Amino acid sequence: MTEGTDSYDCLVVGGGPGGCVAATILADAGFHVALIDRAKFPRLHVGESMIPYNYFPLERIGMIEAMQASDFPKKYSVQFVGRRGKQSQPFYFSQHLDHPCSQTWQVTRDVFDAMMLDNARQHGVTVFEQMSARDLLEEGGATVGITGVDAKGVSHAFHAKVTLDASGNKGFAMSKLSWRIIDPNLIKYAIWGYFRHAKRDPGLDEGATTITYLEGKNWLWYIPLRDDIVSVGVVGDKDYLFDETNDLATVFNREVGKNAWVKGRMAPAVLTGEFHTCVHRSYRSQYCAKNGLVLVGDALTFLDPVFSTGMYLALVSGELAADATIEALRAGDVSGQRFQGYGHEICRRIEILRRLVYAFYANDFSFKQLIMKYPNLKGAVTDCLVGNLDQDFTALHEALAEFLDLPEPIQHGRAKV
Ligand SMILES: Cc1cc2nc3c(=O)[nH]c(=O)nc-3n(C[C@H](O)[C@H](O)[C@H](O)COP(=O)(O)OP(=O)(O)OC[C@H]3O[C@@H](n4cnc5c(N)ncnc54)[C@H](O)[C@@H]3O)c2cc1C
Repeated sequence: MTEGTDSYDCLVVGGGPGGCVAATILADAGFHVALIDRAKFPRLHVGESMIPYNYFPLERIGMIEAMQASDFPKKYSVQFVGRRGKQSQPFYFSQHLDHPCSQTWQVTRDVFDAMMLDNARQHGVTVFEQMSARDLLEEGGATVGITGVDAKGVSHAFHAKVTLDASGNKGFAMSKLSWRIIDPNLIKYAIWGYFRHAKRDPGLDEGATTITYLEGKNWLWYIPLRDDIVSVGVVGDKDYLFDETNDLATVFNREVGKNAWVKGRMAPAVLTGEFHTCVHRSYRSQYCAKNGLVLVGDALTFLDPVFSTGMYLALVSGELAADATIEALRAGDVSGQRFQGYGHEICRRIEILRRLVYAFYANDFSFKQLIMKYPNLKGAVTDCLVGNLDQDFTALHEALAEFLDLPEPIQHGRAKV
């Protein structure tokens, strides 16, 4: 039985960073916006490290003051640790960027995502928690809303001129429409935990992300969070991680034990809760939009997390999708055609980052080699890593191609017209 039918200009499925940015911008533009999330917030989520250009979508939705007042550790830098435990000089974003965005944050996601959802409410978005999207509503080839199920199992119909799917890696619409296309070269496994009392550097480096190289192209993240917690995760190929055992603690501790830097940092650490694991397959949807439907964030694409670009892509795609939706609604035409510009721009950005991820995993390649040969490209590499993608990276790509087989750009991910 379906109880009640509500009608909105826009319906957003999913209250993560992508959904919240999109919903807030649409509400600010004067539209009647509903957002549903199947979870009750605060809810746990992996993916804590921000990059500098996350600043701009957050600024647009009025979140910067709350971020500055928060107790999230301030991230000024990233640093790398070699296989033998040798730590590089931290790279401070302020060396490259003369803007407040050069200081970003390490966010505990349950807290940050709840702040984003509250902010959306304050901007006029109607939020339904514990409401799970079940089916797309279709009429004449266009999406006209969804059916959802609440915590009591009661069905609801939500009608909207535009539905934005920001349901994360579950990919509500992508699954319904069989649009998910996996990148077979980027399938990795992660094991991570949250530790109390793990050591962190003093002063400016207290909130630094550290990427530690393990054997081969396997790696480890070390992300200091609030409340004396550090998020530590091991990422690698299945054969490498699980060759001896599937026991998460054994594999995790084995890898930590191999690197003197991590071993020293983790000596006093106490695990809080359990180890977590997932396989992360990089993917992109066949289409980013069709008549009445737009995909945002992980519901559109996921890229290996080595450069902490997940929230960036969610925030930026949320912003771009919202702007395209505003134009479409004002023109009274919400056909797939209207979202072609969105598809072009978000795919352009994903491709820049995807090439860098391929470079990271390429055998016998390091960014150090590249910069030694082409010192003039250090700025371009840095721009990619901070999220400053509004430029032409042809010179960087040509130089990278001398060292490795760069992947051909993926052709899918555009709007269905
Ligand atoms: C191992 C790992 C490490 C990572 N590390 C980082 C990192 O350091 N930095 C970084 O930026 N990113 C990182 N990421 C990526 C990051 O977690 C995601 O890219 C980011 O959370 C995507 O945001 P989103 O808003 O698209 O989706 P989510 O944040 O996943 O939000 C989706 C929301 O949709 C809701 N939902 C799902 N299905 C439905 C449904 N049917 N109906 C209603 N609601 C639904 C969910 O409850 C959820 O709240 C990492 C990812 C992995 C796997």
